[in-house]
Amino acid sequence: MKANELQKAFLKYFDVVGIIQTKTYLEAAKQMHKEVPDVDYQTMVVLGLSYPYRMIKHTKTHLIPSFYTFGSDYHLVLKHRIELVVKDLSCKYQYGVDNHPHDERLAAVLSGLGYFGKNQLIINQTLGTYMFLGIVFLDLELDHELILDVHDDCGTCRKCITACPTNALTDTLFHLDKCMSQYNQTKKILSDEEIDKNYLLFGCDICQMVCPKNINIKPVIHEEFALSGKEMVSILDLFQDSEKVFKQKYQDMSYLWKGKTILMRNALTLLLKQKNTQYNELIKKSIYEKNVLWYQETARHILNKLEKISS
Ligand code: SF4
Ligand code: SF4
Repeated sequence: MKANELQKAFLKYFDVVGIIQTKTYLEAAKQMHKEVPDVDYQTMVVLGLSYPYRMIKHTKTHLIPSFYTFGSDYHLVLKHRIELVVKDLSCKYQYGVDNHPHDERLAAVLSGLGYFGKNQLIINQTLGTYMFLGIVFLDLELDHELILDVHDDCGTCRKCITACPTNALTDTLFHLDKCMSQYNQTKKILSDEEIDKNYLLFGCDICQMVCPKNINIKPVIHEEFALSGKEMVSILDLFQDSEKVFKQKYQDMSYLWKGKTILMRNALTLLLKQKNTQYNELIKKSIYEKNVLWYQETARHILNKLEKISS
């Protein structure tokens, strides 16, 4: 098959498409001592789908996650779009979006979707960092690879390093454990510093928002990422609804993937920031009802502070 034809088929549903031989990816992963599973299929397609930057503020009744979660769950959106293409290809395939053992960012760099920024994200010349990635392996031989041109880099810019509130970014290293987006998606007891720094219900947008490569970009607006109202999470729903009811109300939102308890814990950090004591009784009840140690510990600690504020 011709690489151009394959690229054209994916471009109906994606904004950027690069194609490499799977062995290019596997060899690069090996050289970089990255552990990725072996793949028998010859061709690897790397996909980028744009999402728009939108800003919504917390209120005393609703809390906001990172804006990449706005609209329908991108995992489902990208998978659906991939299916629309691969169903017409007469070959075996496998694909992944985000939660899989492969290194999407390495594949994105190798296929020219963008360069690896100091903020640890792939930066595309027209979409900046506001781009979801997906990969598809195809049991298909192509006439050539289709690597996109990248002629950009961070240069001397250090804005994301300076802006990172947790010092997770440095010039040479990334401290994953310090990254807010990592710890606020991890089921654990939060330290005082982590509580103090956390500013979203889920994720962290700072190193994207300060990046000059995201200024004047032209995002392609895809209908699946239109606002649905579920970007604003009701604090009452969080603390009153059962896991099942909450998941029904907020279904298709990607911030749900770690469950409700993690959102409740993160919500507590925001209530403390707001000095918002109106939910104290509900928090107290949740500590008795929710038999999850990391939640109970963090909740007790924060409730203690909130009770001091209200007394
Ligand atoms: S997501 Fe937030 S905490 Fe993580 S590196 Fe970026 S700015 Fe730092
Ligand atoms: S803020 Fe500057 S250093 Fe950081 S990723 Fe963007 S361009 Fe690179």
